[in-house]
Amino acid sequence: MAWTQWVREIPDFPLPGVLFRDVLPVMANPEAWHEVLEALEAQLRPLQPDAIFAPEARGFLIAAPLADRLHAGLVPVRKAGKLPAPVLQEAYSLEYGENQLEVEDDRTLAGKRVIIVDDVLATGGTVAATARLASRLEAHVVAFAFLIELKGLKGRQKLDAGVPVLSLLVQP
Ligand code: IMP
Repeated sequence: MAWTQWVREIPDFPLPGVLFRDVLPVMANPEAWHEVLEALEAQLRPLQPDAIFAPEARGFLIAAPLADRLHAGLVPVRKAGKLPAPVLQEAYSLEYGENQLEVEDDRTLAGKRVIIVDDVLATGGTVAATARLASRLEAHVVAFAFLIELKGLKGRQKLDAGVPVLSLLVQP
């Protein structure tokens, strides 16, 4: 059974009218999860990344095994106030209000090749802010990768047009 069969759709979460794509059942099925990691590894390996940046929390779950497979470092991007070391911060807009993402201010990432990974590309605000953090660390974003892209929300338009976007599953 293809991994996509394990994506669960949950109506009206977290708000009425939103159809939430839940990828946790994919991760809970060893064959489906293996298939996802094999596909990401095969397509991203040629880019020879030095590091994988991932926003919390589901992004971490994808980036951790992938970073090991690609022999890349893992750089967690967290909501404000969670990281202990000095951080850089970027704000991004939500439907109502604003949120902040932070990354540790690790200057050794300057000049490094970075892939940004998350479970779902929706409006693009989260990964666009993550890309700004990578740029402020003077790292080069060489790709974005997602399990699912919700095309209708036009997240790609928020991303640098010159950077490839890998979405294993594109939904309207
Ligand atoms: P964006 O910033 O609007 O692109 O939203 C992407 C972020 O929200 C990601 O970190 C996702 O984990 C989460 N997200 C948005 N929509 C969904 C969904 O349908 N399923 C799972 N996560 C979602």
